[in-house]
Amino acid sequence: MNPIGAPFFSFQQDGLQVESIPLTQIARQFGTPTYVYSRAALAANLDEFHQVLSQHPAGADSLVCFAVKSNSNLAILNLMARQGAGFDIVSGGELQRVLAAGADPTKVVFSGVGKTESEMAQALEAGILCFNVESAAELDRLNAVAGRLGKQAPISLRVNPDVDPKTHPYISTGLKTAKFGVPIENALALYEHAATLPHLKIEGIDCHIGSQLLDPSPFEEALERVLQLLDALQARNIPIHHLDLGGGLGIRYRAEDAQPTVESYLTPLLNMVQGRGLKIILEPGRRLVGNAGLLLTQVEFLKPGEGKNFAVIDAAMNDLMRPALYEAWHDIIEVTPRAGQAQVVYDVVGPVCETGDFLGQDRALSVQAGDLLAVMSAGAYGMAMSSNYNTRPRAAEILVDGDQIHVIRDREKVADLYALEHLIP
Ligand SMILES: *Cc1c(COP(=O)(O)O)cnc(C)c1O
Repeated sequence: MNPIGAPFFSFQQDGLQVESIPLTQIARQFGTPTYVYSRAALAANLDEFHQVLSQHPAGADSLVCFAVKSNSNLAILNLMARQGAGFDIVSGGELQRVLAAGADPTKVVFSGVGKTESEMAQALEAGILCFNVESAAELDRLNAVAGRLGKQAPISLRVNPDVDPKTHPYISTGLKTAKFGVPIENALALYEHAATLPHLKIEGIDCHIGSQLLDPSPFEEALERVLQLLDALQARNIPIHHLDLGGGLGIRYRAEDAQPTVESYLTPLLNMVQGRGLKIILEPGRRLVGNAGLLLTQVEFLKPGEGKNFAVIDAAMNDLMRPALYEAWHDIIEVTPRAGQAQVVYDVVGPVCETGDFLGQDRALSVQAGDLLAVMSAGAYGMAMSSNYNTRPRAAEILVDGDQIHVIRDREKVADLYALEHLIP
């Protein structure tokens, strides 16, 4: 079976390779653990959105804002910006990053439930496209900060349509019980309040119901409720210029699974908004980068056990947290398959001192110590969620472009990890 990410990831004579570069070569030159991305895969994923939007009349005025939190490497942000993407940010830090990566600030939307005054000021000074406001208190704070700076803040309210996205509870955000957004029943009153605040300018409605959605119907259900709100607002002379439909489109994490196309997700939504003269903003994260990256790791030891066999690798939960945090599945495949050698079932675990430190459980592999493994679908929420737990320097990041290898983040050194710490006299 083709690996996830084919044709950009494929098996050739030298085993698994990314575009034209064998992973064995990357391991030899740069060591492991290392994140490896395909430039062509990144470009193809964003292009899929642009294609669908450009082929639908309701997509004529649209903007794809990459959700920076899914992968915030500067080189990746820069490539996205060069391909026309805007950005969805959730902190002042992410704003500084996208500006450093060459983003156009007028293509940046700012989400998040806890924006500080200084983050608001930073975004107002930069001149971003829109603040996605998540509470009544935030409306008032933003109005005050904009007033002090003599500016008007463009806003959308992030509404919570109370739709069950049927995904993992930790990544479902649009239910009544979520900390995100404002309940859609309260939105009308809040927009009326916002309309009275002199330093706010109402631009749109925003909605993001969750992540890793494989069934498009919750998106449609949410949009239906958002359109009802929009009609109620227009009736009260509060015009809405754009709809931000959030991110959340899922990817496959198992090679044998199918995944919804961007077309099957987007076309019904575009049909629903057609003729309303709205600008459409999307905030995909995972879908643009998830299957464009993998985590390359080496087997350190095989540890046969009573009830379990362990393959101890040099990557760990600090490098890729999703399995420990969400019990997420990532395909783990041999970079150089050993033909004819029997498979053994292993838990693939890292060296971190936590029982939850596994990247995969019950995986049939034919491996020996020293072999390379690829943890697939690691391009989103991989490096971005990594930590230095156990004083483990973060992995290097490499971007392959055809037969070119670019180091887009150096491997951290241990001394970097305590550089900001101080002894006391
Ligand atoms: C996380 C997030 C996204 C991106 O979600 P994906 O599932 O990665 O597409 C978009 N918008 C907001 C507000 C988010 O919090």
